[in-house]
Amino acid sequence: MSGRILIADDFLTNRIVLKVRLTASCYDVVQADTSGEVVEMARHCRPDLIILGADGNRSASALCEQLKADAVLTHIPLLVIAHDSANEPRLEILKAGADEVFGKPLDESTLLATVRSLIRRRGTYDDVLRRKDLAHEFGVAEAPQAFAGRAKVALIAPDAETGILWRMHLATEFRHELLIMTQSQALEDLSTQSRVPDAFIIGSTLAETSDGLRLVSELRSRRTTRHSVIVVQDCGETPSPNSMALDLGADTAMRGRFDAAELAVKLDRLLARKTEADALRENVRSGLELALQDPLTGLHNRRYAQSYLQRLEQESLEKRQPYAIMILDLDRFKSVNDRYGHLVGDEVLIEVSNRLRSNMRDSDLVARFGGEEFLIALPATDETAARIMGERLRRAIGDQPIRSHGIGQDLDVTLSIGVAVSTPEPGRHKSMQELLQAADRALYVAKSDGRNQVTFVQSAA
Ligand code: GH3
Ligand code: MG
Ligand code: MG
Repeated sequence: MSGRILIADDFLTNRIVLKVRLTASCYDVVQADTSGEVVEMARHCRPDLIILGADGNRSASALCEQLKADAVLTHIPLLVIAHDSANEPRLEILKAGADEVFGKPLDESTLLATVRSLIRRRGTYDDVLRRKDLAHEFGVAEAPQAFAGRAKVALIAPDAETGILWRMHLATEFRHELLIMTQSQALEDLSTQSRVPDAFIIGSTLAETSDGLRLVSELRSRRTTRHSVIVVQDCGETPSPNSMALDLGADTAMRGRFDAAELAVKLDRLLARKTEADALRENVRSGLELALQDPLTGLHNRRYAQSYLQRLEQESLEKRQPYAIMILDLDRFKSVNDRYGHLVGDEVLIEVSNRLRSNMRDSDLVARFGGEEFLIALPATDETAARIMGERLRRAIGDQPIRSHGIGQDLDVTLSIGVAVSTPEPGRHKSMQELLQAADRALYVAKSDGRNQVTFVQSAA
């Protein structure tokens, strides 16, 4: 894994020692000569992680606050190393915005695991932001709304007594819902629970050695808990399980005795970040859905169909499979609008869409391509199968009148279908563009031959 790390420390020897360790792990290390330069340097080199040395000379909390207040730098993870001369309590530094604070002597393996974990988390966040950019490209813009509700926090302690103790201490620190759970309860099919916990606090030793760590990787791999906050509380084992816990996906590992005040500060920060990332993900998902869906019929729109067709063409060539596309157009639809009004026309479009959809396989695409024109793509479909399908769709519309609830009348509606089939054989292959034009020509023939029929492109064409 690579990433850029900015080290800011007033002492040259501290910087050198750290740089050697991190460079050996293949990070790109940048240094600021004094901690006072950290904000300026960070703005300049945009690191994936900032490591700040704290000593008696300058207030680390003030620097953390300055970094977090900067819109460009606020999402960069921040790790503070408190030297012996540091005179601020760790809790102050955490409250000021540091993600982790390490004291001396440095536990190197946990430090490196923390670096990996913070850089990984930063990568996930970047991914969310990239998707947000994509949504922007599709014209979906909105600010994510962070919700300030009460989080559900699961406590999975080594034994019931410890669980009760954890809950008692934490309850004085924050207002979230605290639930004591066993390991198996945490792993039960979480989809059946009304709401999956937002955070898990797990004792590194549960019933057996390292069972807590197994639980971490299990929760991380499940769809429902993949984005939950996971905190591991080390239960005094040697060697410390913390670095492994972080590598398995814990967001943070608490060293030493259970410190409710520190845990509460970290948990609040992690929950806020999760809420923000969840909101972004959800926003992008629903935004993209809207951008790619036709609002009247709920079918995919033309834009989606176009990118789908590109993929289909590629895939069919690779798998050497034929596929068919159809363009369907309602017959004399203008007269429905003219006679009964636009709303009735809309009712017809919705019912036609529903009938088309219910006659397709899951793998087929049905999209609204234009006003009263639909596009259907059938993967792994040859000419014989396409003929059967085309006829079935024609009858699904034409054989049964459409009920307009608006005017309480049954309307006879028909459609014409132009079909083109792509054969993956060398020399006979048509590009998607050619295929669409061919289907369009076939549709034109169906219209001029009297409508309500399925027409294929002539193979010679
Ligand atoms: P043809 O059989 O040749 O296809 O005749 P047609 O009347 O269907 O074709 P034409 O292209 O002349 O008219 C299409 C009509 O579809 C015109 C337009 O008002 C109507 N239309 C397009 N989109 C919508 C829509 O969203 N709602 C409604 N109600 N009508 C629509
Ligand atoms: Mg028409
Ligand atoms: Mg038309």
